[in-house]
Amino acid sequence: MPQKEDIAKFKQIIDKLPEKERKLLYKHLHDMPEAKREAFISDYIKKYYSEKKKPAPQKNVAQSILLGLFAALFIVGVFYFIYLLNKDRIDNRFNEMLGMPPAESIDTSSDPEGIMGPEPRKFPTDTPTPVPATPTPSPVPLADDHPDLSGLVIVIDPGHQQVPDTELEESIPGSTAEKEKASSGATGINSGAKEYEITLQYSLVLKEYLEGCGAEVILTRTENDVNISNIERAAIATESDADFFIRIHADSAPDSDIRGVKVYVPSTGKYSKSAGSDGEDLADIVAEAIGSDSLGSVQSNMYTGLNHADSIRSYQLVIGYLSNSEDDALINQEETAYKTAVAISEFLDSKN
Ligand SMILES: [Zn+2]
Repeated sequence: MPQKEDIAKFKQIIDKLPEKERKLLYKHLHDMPEAKREAFISDYIKKYYSEKKKPAPQKNVAQSILLGLFAALFIVGVFYFIYLLNKDRIDNRFNEMLGMPPAESIDTSSDPEGIMGPEPRKFPTDTPTPVPATPTPSPVPLADDHPDLSGLVIVIDPGHQQVPDTELEESIPGSTAEKEKASSGATGINSGAKEYEITLQYSLVLKEYLEGCGAEVILTRTENDVNISNIERAAIATESDADFFIRIHADSAPDSDIRGVKVYVPSTGKYSKSAGSDGEDLADIVAEAIGSDSLGSVQSNMYTGLNHADSIRSYQLVIGYLSNSEDDALINQEETAYKTAVAISEFLDSKN
C-alpha cells in the first residue's frame, strides 16, 4: 500500500487535472497490479514536483523580447511615417513653440547651392532692444531762411505730465488761490492721443529747431513720467533768466466746435502791457503756419505757471483743441509740430 502522505499529495495533484485525464489515470491505476501502484504514485508525485520547479523555458522569454522589439519598431515606424506625411506642419508648430520663425522663412540665401546644408537654426537671444527713455523725433531740418537766435535763452515747458499731482499749490503769488500742482491734460477726441505726450513731442522738435537757430534751449521736462508742479516749471524759467518762456498745450474745450490757436499771457508783471499784443502775434503766426484759425490771445491769471513767471516774457501756446475732430487730426500730424517750431522761431526773431 502507498503511504498515506503520498496518497494525499497524489489526490491533490490529480484533483487539478481535467476530468478526462483524471479518469484515465484512475483507470490506469485500477488496471495496474496493486504492488506497482505505490511506486507509480511516488514516481508521479516526484515527476510532478520536479517539473513544477523547472524554471520557465528560456525560449519563451527570448520569444517575448523579440516580439516586443518588433512591436516597438513597428510603432516607431508608423509614427515616423505619419511625421513624414505632415513634416512641414509639425516642424513649424515645433518652431512656434520654441519661438523660432517657421522653417520656410529661415533665410538660406547665403548658401543657394545648398552645399553647406540647411543653415543652423538661430535661437532668439535675450538681448532686449533698448527703448529710449524719451521719444526721439527724426532729425529736424532747418529752413534755409531760419532766423539767427544766438544769445537767446529759451525755456520750453511741455504742458502736463503722465501722472497728475493733485496736491494744491499757490496759484497766484501773494493770494490764497490754490490749484492742483500738475494734471495730465486732454485726450484726443478721435485719436485718443494724450496731451502730455503731444506737448513733449512738439517741445522736442521745437528745442532742436531753436538750437539750430543758435538759441540756448532748456526743457522743463524730457520725459512723460515726471512730477514737476507748475510753480516748479515757472521757477526753471525765471531762475534760468530766460528771455522767453514758452508753454506748449493742446487743450480741450467744453464745446467740441471750438478750434484754433490761442495764446494765454500773464495779466501781471513786467511785460503785462505788451503781453496781449505779443500773444496775439504768436497765435496769428502759428495759426497761419499750420493752416488753422487764430483765436488771438487772452491775458489771464488762471494759470499758475504763467502767474509765477510774469517777470519774464511768458506765453502759453494752445496749438489747438483735442476736443475738436479737425484739430485732433491736425495736431497729430508730424508736420504740424515742425511748422509750429518754424513759426515760433520767426515770432522770437520778431520780438528779439
Ligand atoms: Zn493743457
